[in-house]
Amino acid sequence: MAEAGSFAEKVKQQADIVRVVGEYVRLKKTGKDFSGLCPFHQEKTPSFTVSPIKQIFYCFGCGKGGDVYNFVMDMEKCEFPEAVKVVAEKCGIAIPRQKERSPEERKENQQRSVLVEMHRETQTFFVKQLEGTPEGKAAGAYLEDRGLDKDAIAGFGIGYAPSGGDALLRHLKPKYNDKLLVDSGLVSRDQSAGRLFDRFRRRITFPISNESGKIVAFGARALGDDMPKYLNSPETPIYSKSNVLYHMDRAKEALRRQDFAILVEGYMDAIAVARAGISNVVASCGTSLAEPQIKLLGRFTRRVIVNYDPDTAGQAATERSLSLLLEHDFEVRVLALPPIGNKKADPDLFIRERGKDEYLKLLKEAPPYVDYLIARARQMDLTTAEGKQRALNFLLPYIQKIPSGILRSEWATRVAQQLRIDEPLLRSALTKAAKERRSEIKTQPELLGRAAKPVERRLIRMLAEAQGFRQELAKQLQNARLYHGLETEKIFAALVIASLSGQPLQAAEVGAALEERDRRLLFEILFEEANEPTWEEAMSCIEALQHRQAERELADVQRSIEANPAAPELRGLLEKKQQLMRRLAAAR
Ligand SMILES: [Zn+2]
Repeated sequence: MAEAGSFAEKVKQQADIVRVVGEYVRLKKTGKDFSGLCPFHQEKTPSFTVSPIKQIFYCFGCGKGGDVYNFVMDMEKCEFPEAVKVVAEKCGIAIPRQKERSPEERKENQQRSVLVEMHRETQTFFVKQLEGTPEGKAAGAYLEDRGLDKDAIAGFGIGYAPSGGDALLRHLKPKYNDKLLVDSGLVSRDQSAGRLFDRFRRRITFPISNESGKIVAFGARALGDDMPKYLNSPETPIYSKSNVLYHMDRAKEALRRQDFAILVEGYMDAIAVARAGISNVVASCGTSLAEPQIKLLGRFTRRVIVNYDPDTAGQAATERSLSLLLEHDFEVRVLALPPIGNKKADPDLFIRERGKDEYLKLLKEAPPYVDYLIARARQMDLTTAEGKQRALNFLLPYIQKIPSGILRSEWATRVAQQLRIDEPLLRSALTKAAKERRSEIKTQPELLGRAAKPVERRLIRMLAEAQGFRQELAKQLQNARLYHGLETEKIFAALVIASLSGQPLQAAEVGAALEERDRRLLFEILFEEANEPTWEEAMSCIEALQHRQAERELADVQRSIEANPAAPELRGLLEKKQQLMRRLAAAR
């Protein structure tokens, strides 16, 4: 984030959030703030608000909020450094040249750019092999047989790694030392003899690019029956397989425009779908999706249609990916392609045999993930009680992940009907599972803001704004531990620390350090209609909290007394009880 004294902070101070947001959203002045239609969700009446005073925005509809950088990052789907650049440019602030890095950093950067260059050269080499050698031409014929014409081969940069075992090595050797060659993953070292040889031999090669379109790895398919059928680059300084989605660099525009992604397993599938003119396709290039890949995808869209292979491995991968996508709040549908003849169909085979229009039609009809899962459960043996139990156990974890209670309930009815399970029985199983899983569910962002009592809301607002006394107020709250145990405890803790420093509040930064639902609540409170705070009001809020604290303590003491009526500390407890009751009576 914008560290003190950094360029990002300077830009933020000079930039006006209303002006920057105003370039994307038509804003109208409403009181101290501005409002307009939210660019992040569909709406007819404005619930999107910008505060020029606090330099933050918040949407009461979808809960998005933050400072000018958060806005630009969400809007432009970019990372923080890019957002700083965008804002600086919009405000006419000159961007300083990158400052010198440490020697190690410089060395690592240098190594990375050499490796990228080596991959570029390797790509040219593989392409030439496919076009210009007898072996390569045979591979080309094989590709054409699979329906890939010259345009497709050129378009996706498909090449060929010859069978010799050291052709690429000999090509690269004059320019790069052995260590770099091995670090690139393109060349391997024989463990016993220490000899170097090509990693990819007698294989069709597919360049794998990172998000910005630079080739950072290769995938390679065996031409004959060599095992493994698919072989990829290993992890290298420029490539980590869980960070890259195949075809992402070319899919970005379409993902943004169409606001959904088709997720397939391998590069052949992605190429087949993309060639059919459906560009919003990416491949996980492994059996299932990894968390960084989901985050990368989430920057462009939160809607996914999973179209993995229909074999057992593909099904398992689909289900693992489903779990992860649901956890990250994606809207997920599943496309399971029907077999062609007696062959199970992957997207590649299906489009070749049935054509693009048929694929598009099925894509449109792809059912929500729960329907897919019910269909899977119905394939299990449902004639016995054990079978039904197994089917139910298979479904429950997914149903649990549906964030909306109403939807969850609808699905419960549906599952009961489809699996012929007694509905009340199913519901009680769901409730029980929900209770047992509470600790896991708690970490999911809630759709609704949590409740906070008016007194808490008022104090939070004062800690954020009351320039005259927020430091003093923070001291009192902290000394008396008044916010401990409240639902809003974490918000208070963050604001108290910020207020004690005596610096003006950076609302977006306080918010960024909070959990999602606390952040939403804080922003909601900051945008509420409110009068100018006074010290008298602050004091009466503090009294109200003291009162509540005493009530809580009294309840605790009472519980201890009832639990151990004969305990030696009973006398002390009774005295404490009297004291608390006097305090409460005095306050009344
Ligand atoms: Zn919104």
